[in-house]
Amino acid sequence: MDRYENLKQQLQLACPNLTLLEWEPMCGHTSFQIGGPVRLMAIPASEAELTAILQQVKKAEVLPYILGNGTNLLCQDEPTECFVIKTSKGLNRLEILPEGTIYCGAGVLLSQVAAFALQHNLTGLEFASGIPGTLGGGIMMNAGAYGGELKDVLVETHYLTPEGEKGIRRGEEQRLGYRTSSFVGGKEIIIGGVLRLSPGKQEAIQARMGDLAWKRKSKQPLEFPSAGSTFKRPQGGFAAALIDQCGLKGLTVGGAQVSEKHAGFVVNRGGATCADVIALTDQIRAIVQEETGVSLEMEVKRMP
Ligand SMILES: Cc1cc2nc3c(=O)[nH]c(=O)nc-3n(C[C@H](O)[C@H](O)[C@H](O)COP(=O)(O)OP(=O)(O)OC[C@H]3O[C@@H](n4cnc5c(N)ncnc54)[C@H](O)[C@@H]3O)c2cc1C
Repeated sequence: MDRYENLKQQLQLACPNLTLLEWEPMCGHTSFQIGGPVRLMAIPASEAELTAILQQVKKAEVLPYILGNGTNLLCQDEPTECFVIKTSKGLNRLEILPEGTIYCGAGVLLSQVAAFALQHNLTGLEFASGIPGTLGGGIMMNAGAYGGELKDVLVETHYLTPEGEKGIRRGEEQRLGYRTSSFVGGKEIIIGGVLRLSPGKQEAIQARMGDLAWKRKSKQPLEFPSAGSTFKRPQGGFAAALIDQCGLKGLTVGGAQVSEKHAGFVVNRGGATCADVIALTDQIRAIVQEETGVSLEMEVKRMP
């Protein structure tokens, strides 16, 4: 029996109600709609179930890959021997705390926490209302838009170590920077965070959200699957402007295309593979480097 089969059996015994999927295609779990099957995927319904999973994972000596809502992710086409834990169904606690603070579970979508803040007349999260990821993925990436970022409102992050021990990082310890945090490259699993917002007027919050939703819809190719901005913003410029300047809008490899609407997005025009996206992004980087001297760095994460 191999270690994944062993892990599966142990998980079934330890967590009889756990949703456990074998050879689950990642294309069904990513906004790019790209990705072959993974050996095992668990979808815990609660923090307690996640902790129980981690105990079994430790015994099986398997390193889990943590998936939020898969909106910043490119997964390989080939079947992958790995164990994925998807957080976006469980870890969904949302609670009002004193003095304009909110506890939000890592699996809650940023749109949901923004709507929760609106409902409670709290301002500060309008920027996040159109970002399609979870709070966990958002903390990992320090997600931001239209002049706001999670760094502005995130007071503390709660996490589990791979051994299942709880920890909290506060303020500067979170090392939130442009599309990065202290969790990048680590093994911790973010389980939630505390956000500090300010009292606001519901009509004004709603109007700001509506305005940003309209801006997003008019500028971004939301009609096609993508993983959002493909590249990070280079120093002193914008990736989209450089790609456009090089005449690359519409450049296509297989089913992957540089969006004709917004050059910062690679979109899946139908049947795109991971190999198509990699070939296309390699071409974009090479041409932009050659013509402008700027080296573009991927913002989209690869699942190993
Ligand atoms: C149409 C579109 C528009 C977008 N617009 C924006 C935007 O305006 N601003 C912006 O910043 N981003 C944007 N994005 C990108 C994306 O939504 C964000 O990066 C988001 O924060 C990713 O969250 P996720 O839950 O989908 O993470 P995933 O894609 O599932 O994962 C991203 C990374 O975080 C890790 N991760 C996820 N959850 C956890 C956890 N609980 N614990 C530890 N690690 C975890 C994963 O392992 C992976 O490395 C956009 C994407 C799309 C498709």
